[in-house]
Amino acid sequence: MAPPILSLSATELEQWLADHGAPTYRRKQIWDWLARGATTFEAMVDVPKALRGALDTAFRATSLRPIAVSEADRGLTTKTLFELDGGHSVEAVVMRYADRSTLCISSQAGCPIGCPFCATGKFPFGRNLKAHEIVEQAVDAARVLAQEGRRLSHVVFMGMGEPMANYHAVVDSVRRLADPDLLGISPRRIVVSTSGLIPRITQLGEEKIPVTLAISLHAARDELRDVLVPINRKYPVRDLVDTAQAYADRTGRRVSYEWVMLAGVNQSERDARELGALLKGKLAHVNLIPFNPVEDTPYRAPDRASIRAFKDMIEAQGLNVTVRDTRGREADAACGQLHERVMRSRQTAGV
Ligand code: SF4
Repeated sequence: MAPPILSLSATELEQWLADHGAPTYRRKQIWDWLARGATTFEAMVDVPKALRGALDTAFRATSLRPIAVSEADRGLTTKTLFELDGGHSVEAVVMRYADRSTLCISSQAGCPIGCPFCATGKFPFGRNLKAHEIVEQAVDAARVLAQEGRRLSHVVFMGMGEPMANYHAVVDSVRRLADPDLLGISPRRIVVSTSGLIPRITQLGEEKIPVTLAISLHAARDELRDVLVPINRKYPVRDLVDTAQAYADRTGRRVSYEWVMLAGVNQSERDARELGALLKGKLAHVNLIPFNPVEDTPYRAPDRASIRAFKDMIEAQGLNVTVRDTRGREADAACGQLHERVMRSRQTAGV
């Protein structure tokens, strides 16, 4: 099978072009076509025909094959399940807002962290994505949005996987997403989330790519976080918040603390007080995410009144807090749910 064109770096593609007697500026032209939504080399009409033929023989335009799509919010949210080379699959979700278009991207097929409330964590871990497989999710989203007269403006690494456990590919992909020759998305509009791999957060702070860091916190005391986010047993919550604050100091970027609200588990007065004490004086924003129910887990979604009450309790601690809208409930929105549904139907069908 021919390699996907984005598996080559800029230098490698320019070398290939030079080897085929083409000027190196053709590389920018090819990337520009991909960013504008070309799915074949034949469509790149200002590239000479002979070169288009050579590209078509040597490369694929993408390695991703869409195998399921689900829509929600009257078409404002689109979730696509892509099959990767080798058979694993990952999800990517496009969310359209009045002032921006955001892609939630996957960095691993499955996830080794195993949070008990998460659909992705229930499946066996597949593999790390390569940088080009991450970038191709964004190129596909840019294509879909371009057809609607929209531009992909924001990317959040909050799909399947723990981005910091696939560090080098994620950092490489962020650089490529930000490359003005490709998608040109400002690192400030890219959010990298982590369940808390402390050494990698420190390393990310040294990369000089000021992405927004999001910490999947979900609990402010070790006893509870050890259960909800098992990596906490290795990297306790206080050390994690200190490391995240060092990232904020170094980059000037406010850290986003994500808190999935699980009814009766992590939304009490005590939870709010502990969170207030943990984040006191930190450059922090708390993002509450009402839980999207996942089959075969003991967790339940909170009701509206308890969401509001917990938000008020956190505000009373002097913290900045927002409640994330529950985009895509019908789109199997929690990460891993579309994957789970498709895998189950395949098993039922004996595929
Ligand atoms: S919530 Fe995130 S880190 Fe936890 S298992 Fe799911 S994908 Fe992995």
